[in-house]
Amino acid sequence: MYAVRLWSVRHAKGLNRFYKAFERVIVALHPVWNKIGYEKVERPFQVMEKATKGFLFDCQMCGQCALSSTGMSCPMNCPKTLRNGPCGGVRPNGHCEVKPEMKCVWVQGWAGAENMGDLGKIQDVQLQVDNKIKGRSSWLRVVRMEKKVGEFAPKPPKAPPAKKPEAAKPDTAKPAASGEGKAA
Ligand code: SF4
Repeated sequence: MYAVRLWSVRHAKGLNRFYKAFERVIVALHPVWNKIGYEKVERPFQVMEKATKGFLFDCQMCGQCALSSTGMSCPMNCPKTLRNGPCGGVRPNGHCEVKPEMKCVWVQGWAGAENMGDLGKIQDVQLQVDNKIKGRSSWLRVVRMEKKVGEFAPKPPKAPPAKKPEAAKPDTAKPAASGEGKAA
């Protein structure tokens, strides 16, 4: 809901603090998720995440949350889904050029970052969205990332490339001339 989204930006500092405490709890519960199985807890996490973040931030469940770096303004609500700052079309009143009735999510993000007292993280470069994980829980992804499990498990070192078998050397010995070596 748009009004709630604006409220969340105004309360970015408190919401970010709450999220960080929540994150510490779900990371500490990694042994539980691991025992049940990450794939089994994925669905309940998705439902909880969609309900809470959908209400507070109009979350689009991109699966790779950037809220802590974007002043609690979800970049996926930008009609151009820009994740690294506004386009050049922000209106003089700070509204979106595509949806003039809406404030630019990046103008909002900057205000949220100011509320959080941290204008550094918003300048971090965000990776492009990986659509393969759209719809999945970004909360659980953070746990797997912290605990280096699943897709974040260290990869086994690559075996050195097998040596190519040496090509048979061409026989450089001159073929015996006809009659060579024969007794005169
Ligand atoms: S960045 Fe992604 S996960 Fe975070 S609120 Fe926006 S759509 Fe949801």
